[in-house]
Amino acid sequence: MMKPKKTVLDLHEFFPVALEIYDIVSDESQITIYMKSKSKECICPACGTISQKHHGTYHRRVQDLPILGKSVWLDINAYEFRCENPDCSNVSNVETFQGFLQYRRRMTDRCAFFICALALETSCEATADICKAMGIQVSGDTVIRMLLSRAEDCPAEAVGDFVGVDDFAHKKGRTYCTVLVNGENHRIIDILEGRDADTLKAWLKENRQVRRFTRDRASSYAKAISEILPDAMQIADRFHLHQNLLDCIKSILNSELPARIKIPKETAEPRQKISSQQETESKKKSGTLQAQTIRT
Ligand SMILES: [Zn+2]
Repeated sequence: MMKPKKTVLDLHEFFPVALEIYDIVSDESQITIYMKSKSKECICPACGTISQKHHGTYHRRVQDLPILGKSVWLDINAYEFRCENPDCSNVSNVETFQGFLQYRRRMTDRCAFFICALALETSCEATADICKAMGIQVSGDTVIRMLLSRAEDCPAEAVGDFVGVDDFAHKKGRTYCTVLVNGENHRIIDILEGRDADTLKAWLKENRQVRRFTRDRASSYAKAISEILPDAMQIADRFHLHQNLLDCIKSILNSELPARIKIPKETAEPRQKISSQQETESKKKSGTLQAQTIRT
C-alpha cells in the first residue's frame, strides 16, 4: 500500500520547541509568523544558574530566511528571567532559544550565518543585492558589521613556532598590509597595517618563540627577521619561488629570442595539409562529404 503523499509542511519543525506559533499572516511578498515562548526556565549566561523566575516579557520582530521568495518575519513574545544566584550581578536574562536568536540581533542566527557565508564568497555589496532579490533586507554596511562582529567572536589563533608572512593590497599600488599565517594549519594569526620592516619588527618583538618563517623574496621581511630573531630559519615559500622562476624564464626568452620569428616556407605546406585533413574529418562527421559524393 502506497504511503499517502505529504502536502502540508509543519512549520514547527523549523523552529525551537520552546516557540509556539499562534498565527501566520501572508501577503504577496511577506510572511509574518507570530510566536510566543513556552519556556519555563533560562540559563544565566554569566554564572550558569538555571532560573525559573519570570522577570518580565519582551517583544521582538526579527528576520528569518525567506520561504519561496517571500520575506519572513518572526513576531516573538518572550520572557525575561531573573537570575536566582544571589552572588550574580546579572539582573535579567533574555531567551536565546539555544542559539536560534541572539540578544539584540535583528535576524535569526541561521539568517545571519547565510549572509556571512554569502559575503565571504562574493562581496558585501553583492551580498546585499542578492539578499534583496531573495527577500532579505540587509545593507552592504550591515554585512560588513556582521563580518567584523563574527571575526571578533572567533577565538584568536595561537602563534606557534612556524609562521608564514606575506603582503597583500587593500588597493593595489596604494594600501598594503602584512598577513601572518600559522605555518601548520594555514589559519590567519594577525594582520598588520603596512608592509615595511618596522611593521614586522614590532610584531616579532612580541612573538620571539617563532623559529621558522616562510616568506617572499623581498628584503624588508628578511631584514626584520634577521634583526629581531637572527637564529630563526627563513624559508622562501613555494609560491614565490615558482613566481620568480617563471619571471626568470620569461626574461631569458625575451632576451634570447628575436622580436620577430619568420616561419620557414617548407613548414607552410604540412600545415596546409593538416588543415585540409582537419576540414575533411569535419565534413565526414557532419555527413556533407557523403552527400556531395552521391551527387557527383
Ligand atoms: Zn547569574
